[in-house]
Amino acid sequence: MSSVKAYAAKTADTPLAPFHLDRREPGPDDVQIDILYCGVCHSDLHTARNEWHNTLYPAVPGHEIVGRVTAVGNAVSKFKVGDLAGVGCMVDSCGHCSSCHEGDEQYCENGFTGTYNGPVFGGENTFGGYSQRIVVKESFVLKISHDEKDLASVAPLLCAGITTYSPLRHWNVGPGMTVGIVGLGGLGHMGVKLAHAMGAHVVLFTTSPGKAEDAKRLGADEICISKDPEQMAKQANRFDFILNTVAAPHDINAFLQLLKRDGTMTLVGAPETPHPSPEVFSLIFKRRSLAGSLIGGIAETQEMLDFCAKHGIGSDIEVIPMDYINTAYERMLKSDVKYRFVIDMATLK
Ligand code: NAP
Ligand code: ZN
Repeated sequence: MSSVKAYAAKTADTPLAPFHLDRREPGPDDVQIDILYCGVCHSDLHTARNEWHNTLYPAVPGHEIVGRVTAVGNAVSKFKVGDLAGVGCMVDSCGHCSSCHEGDEQYCENGFTGTYNGPVFGGENTFGGYSQRIVVKESFVLKISHDEKDLASVAPLLCAGITTYSPLRHWNVGPGMTVGIVGLGGLGHMGVKLAHAMGAHVVLFTTSPGKAEDAKRLGADEICISKDPEQMAKQANRFDFILNTVAAPHDINAFLQLLKRDGTMTLVGAPETPHPSPEVFSLIFKRRSLAGSLIGGIAETQEMLDFCAKHGIGSDIEVIPMDYINTAYERMLKSDVKYRFVIDMATLK
């Protein structure tokens, strides 16, 4: 075991604070990574505060991890000491169900093991990236081909990137399609960049008029202020696909009305309490679909990282020290982040 410094929430209503945890020595298939940067996902906040009612305490969040390999087991073939490596939202899955066989480990029929808050098939709680080091099975470790100088902006790709890339790919987003992205936060700003890079006409829906100029710079062709009924009315019946990243309950009918015949809206935001139920009539008259999507598989995460490296895509970030995390959470709740906080793990002393 190696003793590692970390930051943990001890209960739902206490701030995150310094914590020590033990990491296992790398086994034959394991990669040990010293963490350089860790992105701050809204899911970290939902978990730290037990908003999904399933948190195991102490909770060490963080599933947008990049770092350097500092040891490998003797059966590891894809990584060597000194390599850069990434870890996203999962560190294990059963490996033998139909979903795992098809590369959709996130839908593992036996339940994947989360990077944090993931009991290892009945075993102990897992601790995430708000820590100095992590040890992960090779098959759940990602290769990074971005320039090392851009490493901090790669971290958010491991969750925000794949969570938006996977549905955009699944619903075949590409040239000739009109795509809406709802919410310009960590996920949403990656959705805008990726849908733009895939060649779609991108419309960003935001509640924050002050983000309009940024949205254009990130790749949006049009901006719609979703609180303004007149602007929303102009967008009716024109979307092939809408990706909704909003972290709070809201009226999803307002967005279903914007889909054209056979269009789909996919929810990736996971609010603490449900959205009001959608109207049946919003769906049946144009054969519209409402769907959901969870992160992405490991092979697809690698594909996304390679796609982003090829297209020069990273996250727009604000690098923060570890002890800023509680303030960062408060700012995230006010939609005051451009567009992802990333913790510089060198500040975890
Ligand atoms: P975030 O950075 O806080 O962004 C959420 C955005 O939603 C905000 O920037 C804001 O955008 C908008 N928003 C917030 N409150 C709103 C409200 N009351 N009404 C309308 N819009 C509101 O969060 P994130 O890290 O992108 O995560 C978003 C959600 O996705 C979270 O619930 C998270 O847990 C979930 N998530 C799901 C998956 C998955 O696999 N499905 C993976 C990761 C995260 P504007 O200012 O532009 O309106
Ligand atoms: Zn996340």
